[in-house]
Amino acid sequence: MRLTVWILLITLLTSCAHGHSPTTPPHFPDIERGRSIPPLDWTASALAAPVKILLWNRRYATHKISPETETVLADFIRKNELRTLKVRLNQWAPFDEIKRIVKNDEVGLPYRLFAIPFSFLTAAMGRPLGGLVMSDYYDPFSNTIHIYSDDIAIALHEAGHAKDFAKQQWRGTYALVRSFPGVNLAQELIATHEAFDYLDLHGPEKERIRAPAVLYPAFATYAGSYLTMIPFGWVGALLGGHLYGRLRSRYIREEIETRRPLLLDHDDGHIGLVETVGSGREQSEEGQKNQSAPDDVKNARGV
Ligand SMILES: [Zn+2]
Repeated sequence: MRLTVWILLITLLTSCAHGHSPTTPPHFPDIERGRSIPPLDWTASALAAPVKILLWNRRYATHKISPETETVLADFIRKNELRTLKVRLNQWAPFDEIKRIVKNDEVGLPYRLFAIPFSFLTAAMGRPLGGLVMSDYYDPFSNTIHIYSDDIAIALHEAGHAKDFAKQQWRGTYALVRSFPGVNLAQELIATHEAFDYLDLHGPEKERIRAPAVLYPAFATYAGSYLTMIPFGWVGALLGGHLYGRLRSRYIREEIETRRPLLLDHDDGHIGLVETVGSGREQSEEGQKNQSAPDDVKNARGV
């Protein structure tokens, strides 16, 4: 009898993605928007003001998501084939979240049962208090991203969490170990670098430059939570995150400006790309020289 109970328990704990074919939702990517309620959304955005200041990000918790943010998020989901993922853009749907948790056989049942009250409460508070008591977030138990900020870097970071979880065989366990010291930092860095990698490859360029200045201060809030023994340690961590993020953003901007290809008219009339080094001004001068002396062009590549 005792053996039967153990077998049942182990079966429940180890139930995971393999063996189940994920059901593709009728719409892929599966993105839903909450109905606009201006007084509620304005109040929710205003309540998040202290956090906007700490993160120095006015796009944080705006509770109004632009089509541009939605388009980039949809592209990430499409490119990474996250077919069972759902996105809720400033949408209040805690009861639907419970339904998704019940149906989500990609996570072991005991984990899901344990998560239901927490997922319900968090989903219920997000619309009025998202940005103040919690940020944009990914819920691995319902496999849903909840977005309250009109910020491409943040949206991609949350999608990065979803991609990270999609790669795990034991998703419930992977969510549970996040409560062990340091594991959340590793998972946060993975999601942040997923966002950076996407922006490096696909842009938009201005968001690629901006992303480190957004995501490193956000990461610093997690790192700072380990510095409670140091008075105002979290402030130091946050300032460090802002400093490092801005240095990275500046480095990426300079790198882009340095490598920006120069459009050049060739003698045969077609447009070519010239790979140049040096500053943008130097590139222009180089381009003019190349145009006047086409025989000297060493590294011109037609497209
Ligand atoms: Zn995160």
